[in-house]
Amino acid sequence: MRNTYQRQVILEELVKVKSHPQASEVYEMVRRRIPSISFGTVYRNLRLLRDKGLIQELTLGKHASRWDGDVNSHYHFTCESCGVVYDMDYIVSSPWDQAVEKETGFHVTGHRAEFYGYCKNCRGKKALP
Ligand code: ZN
Ligand code: MN
Repeated sequence: MRNTYQRQVILEELVKVKSHPQASEVYEMVRRRIPSISFGTVYRNLRLLRDKGLIQELTLGKHASRWDGDVNSHYHFTCESCGVVYDMDYIVSSPWDQAVEKETGFHVTGHRAEFYGYCKNCRGKKALP
């Protein structure tokens, strides 16, 4: 089935990379394998794969959504200079969930945290005001 194949290729291409591409970049990657595919199809399938829990959509600050083929719970660091989104080898803190739960009485099922600043390559360069 054509739609299933397209979706499979999108998933395969996304899982291959650690770059957290934007939809337009996923489109370029997938087009190498399916030249006839449209951006709309790629975008629709990204949302569908996200809804199925097979990929993650990262909404980071003011930037356009990034897409991540790694659905394991992990944090990201966005460099404000070069724009690279890094995976962080930092333990996702469930005690934090418990602390908030205790404080509020809410039932916490998870949390997101976003780190940003300047990466190792950029931290020496002067930051824009
Ligand atoms: Zn950087
Ligand atoms: Mn990631």
